[in-house]
Amino acid sequence: MSVTIDLSGKTALVMGVANARSLGWAIAEQLLKAGCHVGFSYQGERLKGELDKLTKDWPRTWTQQADATSEEDMDALFARVGQEFGRLDVLVHSIAYAPRAAMDGRFIDTTPDDWNTALSVSAYSLVAAARRAEPLMSRGASIVSLTYHASQQVVPKYNVMGVAKAALEAATRYLAADLGDREIRVNTISAGPMRTIAARSIPNFIGLYDKGARNAAFGRNATSEEVGKLALFLLSDLGTGVTGQTVYVDAGLSIMTVKEEQ
Ligand code: NAP
Repeated sequence: MSVTIDLSGKTALVMGVANARSLGWAIAEQLLKAGCHVGFSYQGERLKGELDKLTKDWPRTWTQQADATSEEDMDALFARVGQEFGRLDVLVHSIAYAPRAAMDGRFIDTTPDDWNTALSVSAYSLVAAARRAEPLMSRGASIVSLTYHASQQVVPKYNVMGVAKAALEAATRYLAADLGDREIRVNTISAGPMRTIAARSIPNFIGLYDKGARNAAFGRNATSEEVGKLALFLLSDLGTGVTGQTVYVDAGLSIMTVKEEQ
């Protein structure tokens, strides 16, 4: 049996594409190929050129600057979604940030400012986006974000970002409950390590990446394309009935302790 996912006539907002390696772009590509109309938000003007290049072959796309921690930017972004689409079927949140200083040292030394920044950018912004998306969404709409296993187990140097991901996963469940009466679904994808710009800011990320490849059940890391395909499932009608979940796509890394050397 072959299943074709057709999202023609559907509308999506993807928040957080920095370049072609971004997980947000891996998801957007799947949405675009399925026929979805996609708008993009980016944090800083320096990223606009990159997004313009990525979207040039997709004529019905649009972009708008929005810092996810700015109330004004978020209001303007969702007003634009309303103007462009009149409704929203899909929301992709692919945003995270923690100050480097909070990841260089010990978790115990996290400052209040660094805590607030990491939690605000990486977790609260999902709540802020979902609240603005809700009036534009109807039955069957779907929201996904991106998380990482450091929410569940200690990953050295991940520090406050692990706490922010735990908050994101809990927020996913509370949002799913709030929006459940209209069957608007909210899920988060727990991706294995991927070489992106955000990953580069994690101290010793390459060591983590190489170790992931050795220890995963598949003997390799998951790919960003695999993240995109899982997102497409969760964002389409194939995923009806799934909400409030943290769904892993990590080539079987999180299930292992340490793999025996073969
Ligand atoms: P990425 O390409 O660097 O994407 C992160 C995006 O977040 C960037 O576009 C960044 O914009 C944006 N961002 C940061 N602060 C923002 C703010 N205040 N307002 C709006 N946008 C903001 O890296 P990525 O790895 O694809 O990250 C996407 C998501 O995947 C994140 O939630 C990340 O934690 C998650 N994830 C990544 C991995 C991995 O190994 N890469 C694994 C699991 C989960 P700027 O470039 O302007 O800062």
